[in-house]
Amino acid sequence: MEKIILTGDRPTGRLHIGHYVGSLKRRVELQNSGEFDKIYIMIADVQALTDNFENPEKVRQNILEVALDYLSVGLDPAKSTLFIQSQVPQLTELTTYYMNLVSVSRVERNPTVKAEIQQKNFEKSIPVGFFTYPISQASDITAFKATLVPVGEDQLPMLEQCKEIVRRFNMIYGGEALVEPDIMLPENETCRRLPGTDGKAKMSKSIGNCIYLSDDAETVRKKVMDMYTDPTHIKVSDPGHVEGNAVFTYLDAFSKPEHFEKYLPEYENLDALKEHYTRGGLGDVKIKKFLNSILQEELEPIRARRKEYEKDIAGVYEILKKGSEEARRVAENTLQDVRNAMKINYF
Ligand code: ATP
Ligand code: MG
Repeated sequence: MEKIILTGDRPTGRLHIGHYVGSLKRRVELQNSGEFDKIYIMIADVQALTDNFENPEKVRQNILEVALDYLSVGLDPAKSTLFIQSQVPQLTELTTYYMNLVSVSRVERNPTVKAEIQQKNFEKSIPVGFFTYPISQASDITAFKATLVPVGEDQLPMLEQCKEIVRRFNMIYGGEALVEPDIMLPENETCRRLPGTDGKAKMSKSIGNCIYLSDDAETVRKKVMDMYTDPTHIKVSDPGHVEGNAVFTYLDAFSKPEHFEKYLPEYENLDALKEHYTRGGLGDVKIKKFLNSILQEELEPIRARRKEYEKDIAGVYEILKKGSEEARRVAENTLQDVRNAMKINYF
C-alpha cells in the first residue's frame, strides 16, 4: 500500500510555535525522509469559515500567511503538495455522503468540539457547519487515501471519527473504497499540546496567547519575558514549581543538551536546572533569558526564509494554484470510487 500523508491548518491566523512542535517540524522531517509516496498539506479555509463566516476577509488574508509559514519552515512544493481546501469541491460532496453515517449524539460526544463550543461561547447558536466539521475533516483525510496524519493531540477525536466513518462506509457499501488513517502524535508529550504564554489553555490562534513563527526577535523576547511562571515564586530565594510553569514546559519542548553547553554551562541538563529552581535560588529572569536564546536560535532561519518568500507573493499563489489543481484530480478519483461503491453513478 502507498504511504500517504495528509495534514493541514486552519487559516485563522499566522502559525505559532505550538504548530511548529506539534506538527510542522515533524512534517518537514517526514517530507525529507523520502519514505512517503505523497504528502498533501491543506490550508483548511472551509473549516476556518465555520466559525469565521462573518469574516471571510480574515480567512482570505491568512491563507497567504499560513502558506508563507509553511514555506519558511521548509515545506517544499517540489516534495509536498500545498493546496487550499475550498478549491477542491469534491471534498464537500464526500462530506454530504459521510454525514449520513454519523449521528448527532456522536458528534456531541467529541471532546475537542465540546471544548471549542464552550471556548467560543456558542451555547445554543452553534452553526451546523461548525458542529459537523469533524465529518468534513474525514473527507479531507479519506479523499487523499491518507495512511498517516501527523497532528497535535487535539486531533485525536477527529481521527477516531474518521476511522469510524471509513469502517461504516466500507461495511455498508462493500469493498475498500476508503482507507483507515493512523494518527502520528509528537514523541515528546509536551509537544502534543503546547500551552500558551499565559500558561493556561493550549496555545491557539483564536485565543491570542501565541508566539508566532513570524514574530520579530524583539517581540519574541518581550513575550518570553512576560511569560507565566509560578505565582508563588516571588523572591529569587523562594522555592519554585516547575509543574504548570510555562517556561519549563517550553524548555521541555525546545531545549537540547547543546543549548546548556552553549548558554548555561553551569548546569548539566534540564533536570539540574529544574532541581535548582525547585530548591530555590534561581530567578525567573535567568530561565527566561535562556528560553529566549533557544527560541531565537530556532526561529531566526525561519524568519529569514519568510523574508525571501515575501518578495514573491505571486509565486506563492502559483504554488497553491498548482497544488490545488493536483488535489482536485486526486479527490475526484476518490469521489468516483465512493460513488461507484454506493452505486449512485447513474449514467
Ligand atoms: P484555531 O484556534 O483557529 O483552531 P489552532 O491554533 O488550534 O487554531 P489549528 O489550525 O486548529 O490551530 O491546528 C493545526 C494543527 O496544529 C493541528 O495538527 C493541531 O493539533 C496542531 N496544534 C495547534 N495548536 C497546538 C498546540 N498548542 N500544541 C501542539 N499542537 C498544536
Ligand atoms: Mg484548532
